[in-house]
Amino acid sequence: MTAALVLRPAATVILLRAGPGGPEALLLQRTQAAAFLGGAYVFPGGALDTADGEARVLRRVVGLDDAAASARLGLARGGLAYWVAAVRECFEEAGILLAREEGGGELSAARAAELARHREPLNAGKLAFAEFLDAERLLLPADALAYYGHWITAPGRARRFDARFFVARAPAGQDGSHDASEIVHHAWLRPREALERGDRGEMELVFATRHTLADLARFPDPQRAFEHARDLPEIETNRACWAQGREGPRLFRRADPQYFEIHWSDPEETGQSAYELVPGVPKRLDRLVTRIIAPNPGMMTGPGTNTYLVGERELAVIDPGPAIDAHVEAVLAAGAGRIRWVLCTHTHPDHSPAAAALKAATGAVLIGRPAPEHGSQDRGFAPDRVLSHGDRLMLPAFTLRAIHTPGHASNHLCYLLEETRMLFTGDHVMQGSTVVINPPDGDMRAYLASLEMLLAEDLAILAPGHGYLIGAPHDEVRRLVAHRLAREKKLRTEIAWIGRPSFDELLPAVYDDVPARLHPAAARSLTAHLDKLIADGAVREEDGRFALVKSPPTG
Ligand SMILES: [Zn+2]
Repeated sequence: MTAALVLRPAATVILLRAGPGGPEALLLQRTQAAAFLGGAYVFPGGALDTADGEARVLRRVVGLDDAAASARLGLARGGLAYWVAAVRECFEEAGILLAREEGGGELSAARAAELARHREPLNAGKLAFAEFLDAERLLLPADALAYYGHWITAPGRARRFDARFFVARAPAGQDGSHDASEIVHHAWLRPREALERGDRGEMELVFATRHTLADLARFPDPQRAFEHARDLPEIETNRACWAQGREGPRLFRRADPQYFEIHWSDPEETGQSAYELVPGVPKRLDRLVTRIIAPNPGMMTGPGTNTYLVGERELAVIDPGPAIDAHVEAVLAAGAGRIRWVLCTHTHPDHSPAAAALKAATGAVLIGRPAPEHGSQDRGFAPDRVLSHGDRLMLPAFTLRAIHTPGHASNHLCYLLEETRMLFTGDHVMQGSTVVINPPDGDMRAYLASLEMLLAEDLAILAPGHGYLIGAPHDEVRRLVAHRLAREKKLRTEIAWIGRPSFDELLPAVYDDVPARLHPAAARSLTAHLDKLIADGAVREEDGRFALVKSPPTG
């Protein structure tokens, strides 16, 4: 393993104090000569020392034990050392000591000033942090630091850190001073002010610092920011990654749509995964799964339909796609005589028509559910085996479990590859565009229930019918549900506001954030939302006009 692949555990403290214009964060400018982020403004922090995890110093920590700290960080053990390192680095680099007297009292300003003489020997390695705490009878209140962010340096730098970010309120009477060796300047700045200076080129801020400042800018005071961090149910890992494409190598962040696919398909971080979706070119996503995109891009199909080949010696094709010769040939070529099964998530014309050609060429068994009565369907799809909810297709090298997910289409199945917990979502969840719910076969009520159902499944990644792989599946599903419920709420508000509106009056009001050229598609969603509210008993229709149903008084 080369040095650049070794991640060094590190801790960073975002210190916040109340200022006249809102909370201010302490930023330190690193010396240009620093090996890591020279010249940049950063929050105090640094790599963990082995001593940070030793019993002698951990004995001095109150408010959190190693088991709880490790659970918070998602580690098996050793988590509390990050809190120790955060406090130690903050004192060494910024001169601010997040400690308490052994008797439980806060450090007075005078006492903090008096303790400052220990900084130099600590920085020089002449005094051990544990020795200092023992001698001065100080405790480290771990509950004063709330875990807030997880940042892993992108491959390619000389040093890579696995840094945990903490938020703490700056103790009263300690303004900080930089250590004059690694740090050349320090400043307390409102997050927005720091970002503006960064935009003007006056301060160099790296991505993690910018991202953190932008998130903190919304809090009115340090206490609110601290409570927010402390109460976060889960902390996202941000592990920037490289991939290859037409524009050469590019760096990707968690907010980029390619991020999870790059990590999934390139766990060794070689930087060789492709970042573009190119029709006809097979992309190997992992040991078991290869994707070929059909050449049918469009408003409803995004970059084209994803056809997946699953298996090793014998293959299942999931969603063969449209019956376009070039696509069928590309799938057959990638299958290289190994295709045994062809599964369809549903029978829309962009998903199943190539099944017949694949069966003719390979003798594969067709699996799925026949086309329903309504909507634009591939009525020629004739499955040899019809799957129901929960059916498991136990193939020699892998198992696919069918999950019936009506909503986008009444016959829609998702397939869970149990070996890797990859869920093939067809059009139930798409990347990059909103799923169309087109009644009567499309059903908003069923769609939301089908989304909720996925939350009960243990999923690692989603492989949609269109677009890139989608990571953090439960977050994505919750986001989709929230998005639909927000639209539903807007619809109810507009019905009340306009007063017995017609469909045509509702459409532009409810979809005022959608370009008019998309209103024909939005009309189908509006119908779906209205059908759901009527089925829920929340709305009634009379003479083509809609009204809210007053809920009967309870009691
Ligand atoms: Zn579809």
